[in-house]
Amino acid sequence: MGEPLSTKRAVVIGAGGLGGPALLGLAAAGVGRLVVVDADAVESSNLARQPLFGEADLGRRKAEAAAHRLRRLFPHVAVEAVDGRFDEGSAARLLEGADLLVDGSDNFETKFLASDAALRAGVPLLHGGVLRYTAQLLTVIPGETACLRCLFEAPPGRGEVPTCADAGVLGPLAGFAGALLAAEGARLLSGERGAYAGRLLVYEARSARSRAVTVRRRADCTACPSAPRRAAPPPAEVTSSRPPGATA
Ligand SMILES: [Zn+2]
Repeated sequence: MGEPLSTKRAVVIGAGGLGGPALLGLAAAGVGRLVVVDADAVESSNLARQPLFGEADLGRRKAEAAAHRLRRLFPHVAVEAVDGRFDEGSAARLLEGADLLVDGSDNFETKFLASDAALRAGVPLLHGGVLRYTAQLLTVIPGETACLRCLFEAPPGRGEVPTCADAGVLGPLAGFAGALLAAEGARLLSGERGAYAGRLLVYEARSARSRAVTVRRRADCTACPSAPRRAAPPPAEVTSSRPPGATA
């Protein structure tokens, strides 16, 4: 049942705390082609939560180091390293022929850009974020389920919400969220619907409480391809929630 993962191509933004475990999980699950997009170099502060890197990688470009590690672990997986940002200039090219976009980026600008670009390209998006003790996940099926702008409309202003760099993150929580991204990604790529399509998962590590909140598409969403043609839906249940966290 399902389609062979070996024929699928997944683009992963960020090779760090979220993207690293997601890449490992997707490769282990048998996804045939992975594209690693990261514009940073490996720093010593990364090592505590970024399992693709070790001390020997310090100073190396993250995309290259991650691809090298993945190729050694999974010789049958074709891994492409993109040492650069996922931005307006690169998004369309990177998403050409992609079956899945996984956002493990560390900033709100990229997260919204990833959502917009995935919708334009018609590529399913897995959004992930961690901040302090909280992890968030959302699957976006273009034209079908709510996108990031249906949920939050716009990125928060500078300083409104702390970033991972300011507030920190519980390292293993990023690994947990990254593993969930990989599991959800493998399901989507094999033709299943996935657990978080239109549902925002919020997991709080201190209380071990999690909830999956249904997120409705906004009729007036500026990013969704064709807004649902009915009266304005009830306000999204989680609009008061803070925007997704960021991890590096
Ligand atoms: Zn939308």
